Amino acid sequence: MSAFPRRRHGEDCGVIAVYRRTGPAAELAHRGLFALQHRGQEAAGIATWGPSGEIHHLKGRGLVSECLPTYRVGQLPGSLAVAHVRYSTVAADRSENIQPFLATTPFGKLAIAHNGNLKNADEMQKLLEAKGSLLSTTMDTELMVHLMARSEDVQFEGALRFMAKRVRGAYSLTMLCDGRLYGLRDPYGVRPLVIGKMADGWVIASETCALRVLDADYIGEVRPGELVEIGPEGVVRQKLLEAATRPAPCVFELVYFARPNSEVFGQGVQGARIRMGEHLAIQDEMEGIEPPDIVVPIPDSGVPAAIGYARRSGVLLEMAILRSHYVGRTFILPDQDSRTHSIRLKLSIIRESVEGKRVLMVDDSIVRGNTARKIVQMVREAGASEVWLRIASPPLGWPCYLGIDTPSFDELVINREGTVEAVRKAIGADQLRYLSIDGLVDATLKQSFCFGCMNGDYPL
Ligand code: AMP
Repeated sequence: MSAFPRRRHGEDCGVIAVYRRTGPAAELAHRGLFALQHRGQEAAGIATWGPSGEIHHLKGRGLVSECLPTYRVGQLPGSLAVAHVRYSTVAADRSENIQPFLATTPFGKLAIAHNGNLKNADEMQKLLEAKGSLLSTTMDTELMVHLMARSEDVQFEGALRFMAKRVRGAYSLTMLCDGRLYGLRDPYGVRPLVIGKMADGWVIASETCALRVLDADYIGEVRPGELVEIGPEGVVRQKLLEAATRPAPCVFELVYFARPNSEVFGQGVQGARIRMGEHLAIQDEMEGIEPPDIVVPIPDSGVPAAIGYARRSGVLLEMAILRSHYVGRTFILPDQDSRTHSIRLKLSIIRESVEGKRVLMVDDSIVRGNTARKIVQMVREAGASEVWLRIASPPLGWPCYLGIDTPSFDELVINREGTVEAVRKAIGADQLRYLSIDGLVDATLKQSFCFGCMNGDYPL
């Protein structure tokens, strides 16, 4: 039995590591975290390798701007840093869960930042506790570190391999150990991880948008199963584990999670989302559906797909829904009622743009269906004659256990209602059409992806 109950939670976070030949790394990691803020707003942290071989750190709850003030980041010494932003979930609000996770190991002092979730975490926890490990957090990351400590290999790489052979799941890691920096990606390549080169060093980060703010050149992805090591002699890349025969990068990164100005899994996010919108328009064309009067994106996540829809259909794109930039994270709230109110505070409809019109709204996905129901109602109240909805991904019918924070099976609206037609009725739209899996496959350039949340077929 577990020492204490583990409430596992989504860990689709953002990670970064910075190596400089000289000069402080913390400020650059801090800048990178701002660029990765969309990957996690619950907590953030930075750890650095100080000049006399000690780890310094600063962590806190909230946005990077709130919990990592610039003047304090400036006090973190050392030219190596790893940093993390944590995704918002309701139950994960425990300060010991804030990353980077720090440990003293047989290989030296370690700071580790993790994006992803392990599938066999419970099994690993039981195994470790049976052998006497005392766990102090509910993070999968800590299990990985305990596994490494159980390796008989005296080299850090060997211990990493020992751990990686025993865990199953998603991990994109940035690490600092004994004065060296590392990046490691699981053999399926579920979460993104990229390498960049700066004038005086290197960066490893979740997305290329973090490289841009550091003026780093994009070198390429950390390959599935690959370990990247950075030291004074430069970068050494080695295959730690064989890549899986069926790679499984998460397609939802391209649908929703990543920033449009990033390139993830070798393709531009904005371009992929525009193609999703174009495919939605092609589907409508093929079904002989009459064009609407205007195409309106649900901001921010629906914008690129709406551009694609408008471009393909020739229908006018109107920014008829405004998103407030001032409401913020406070409104990621735990209960249904407060969530519904938050949508009204966050989004406003421009009445004169929609009045008397057949409005086709575009969003990236429907999860629980609350956002869609509320916006349909608001657009109707603002005077639209008809409210149509297009969704740039197929229905989400399976919870993700590889790092996207989706709710339980029964909370997903497609399971609650049973059919697309029943979802349409429940959200009150005049039309509801989703992108087909084939359309999504085409839009994402027919690469091999994990579509598990859309078809239940999880490759690992
Ligand atoms: P809802 O259907 O009300 O649960 O909200 C769906 C909206 O939230 C979508 O339009 C997305 O923009 C966004 N979304 C999608 N997936 C997630 C997620 N895992 N966590 C938070 N928001 C999400």
